Amino acid sequence: MTPSRLKLIGTALRRGLRKRCPHCGEGRLFSGWSYLHRCSICGLVFEPHPGDTWAFTIFGDRLPIGGIIVLIYFGVMRSHPVLGPALMVVLAALVVWTAHNRWGAGIALLYLARVYWPDPADSIPPPPATRR
Ligand SMILES: [Zn+2]
Repeated sequence: MTPSRLKLIGTALRRGLRKRCPHCGEGRLFSGWSYLHRCSICGLVFEPHPGDTWAFTIFGDRLPIGGIIVLIYFGVMRSHPVLGPALMVVLAALVVWTAHNRWGAGIALLYLARVYWPDPADSIPPPPATRR
């Protein structure tokens, strides 16, 4: 993998985790609890087709959280009656607190898939550095 490709992946994921547009890094991904359809700065459509981010959400978010719940339940909750429920409460708080960041990472992963496997019908705005 080339350094420029690694840099693009890191930059897009960092922007997504910061709840910013993975393309320009400036537009917001969310307004309150709902995500925006399009970047207000560069015009990137975040999710061209409804459900495009489901795979990233399920494999990158729901399954790991489910695995952590299973680990807490079978690893701690059954042997430590106070620590187990406390860990579940902490996990629930973290899941809610980081929801937008994780969803932003999913949008960034979808953006990277669109960049590396482009669809002629899907228009990605020109890179911010070359825009006039
Ligand atoms: Zn943007």
